[in-house]
Amino acid sequence: MASNKTLRFALPWLVALAILAWLALREPPQVAPPVLQREFLAMGTLVSLSLHLADGQDRSAGEAALVKIERELRDFEARWSPGGDGALGRLNSELAAGRAAPIDPVLAPLLVRAFGLREVSAGVFDPRLGALVRLWGFDDESHFLSRPPPTDVVTRLAAQIASAPAQLADCPDAAPCYGPAPGVQFDLGAIAKGEAAALAIAQLRQEGFPDAIVNLGGNLVASGARGGRPWNIGIRHPRPEGGIGVLATLHTSGTEAVMTSGDYERYFEFEGRRYHHILDPASGQPAQGLVSATVVHADGALADAASTALLVAGPQGWRETARALGISQALVVDESGRINVTAALAPRLEFAPGLAPATVVP
Ligand code: FAD
Ligand code: MG
Repeated sequence: MASNKTLRFALPWLVALAILAWLALREPPQVAPPVLQREFLAMGTLVSLSLHLADGQDRSAGEAALVKIERELRDFEARWSPGGDGALGRLNSELAAGRAAPIDPVLAPLLVRAFGLREVSAGVFDPRLGALVRLWGFDDESHFLSRPPPTDVVTRLAAQIASAPAQLADCPDAAPCYGPAPGVQFDLGAIAKGEAAALAIAQLRQEGFPDAIVNLGGNLVASGARGGRPWNIGIRHPRPEGGIGVLATLHTSGTEAVMTSGDYERYFEFEGRRYHHILDPASGQPAQGLVSATVVHADGALADAASTALLVAGPQGWRETARALGISQALVVDESGRINVTAALAPRLEFAPGLAPATVVP
């Protein structure tokens, strides 16, 4: 028989155990969600970070890593904004004043890459279009026009940009510089988000978080998997109808960028015609013929630049431009809604019900 002393000692523990058992039965144990999310606005778009925690990984360390990525993306935005007092904004101010300007070392690698891609894409991708983008009012959603700018003004500016230097030069002190180049303002809007997403994924991997997605307004880089299952990425339908917002889905593998350019991102309509933000450098007018272009590639900056280039290259030129850029996985949708996809991407896609590619090209 238990003594009074034993009972007095055991009673509080028995009561505590009974309360714990009651709590456990009343509420199922809280399971921490395996994917951490962080969303914020930057670079004129919604940025969404997703991070899958592996077994035993510390939730607060994951959250701290995402906070750090947000900070770095904001620094990236300041550096690469075409206006303002960041590195690219200062370069553009010098060019606008008609002067030659030294290239800040933080800008040089991506600018050199962008010039290289301009050459390889036969000029359909061009990082020098900032003044044209502004003339069309597509540099910021608050600047959208209600009618197109005069054609002769657009044509003159496009010609001025086309005749400007197409690469950086060596200044007298052997550092790279650019200009004077009337009409040229740098705008890396078609490549910088891919670069930023790739850098963010590399940073997360380095910090021990290999399973993540960095999505900048539909331009994303995915890495790893989600608890052993691959990330499932939706490619947006350029003309969503009858509740179908997704054209197709794709399971990513390893580290892969899925970048889409479309005429639906920024546009206005005038007299029944859509004028959008992806411009043909040859004419200065919005590109015609394709309404969206998606590129899948391991290299985020390349995939971003290529999706823009394919949209400009149009129905006749997109495949050749993809080949020139070293892109084997691409999908384009033309103005009549026909879906064209490369043979390397087609088997990886699951199309929404009722949708199928019109052509699969080698
Ligand atoms: P993409 O096809 O990837 O890029 C299209 C963009 O590239 C166009 O908007 C134009 O800027 C440029 N472009 C057009 N034609 C060509 C061409 N032939 N070759 C090369 N480039 C071309 N938007 C805001 O509203 N406010 C902001 O404060 C803002 N800040 C930004 C800061 C940074 C650092 C960056 C990179 C972008 C910013 N933007 C801002 C732009 C915004 O993110 C655009 O929506 C984006 O650049 C267009 O990207 P996209 O993915 O829709 O299309
Ligand atoms: Mg792009």
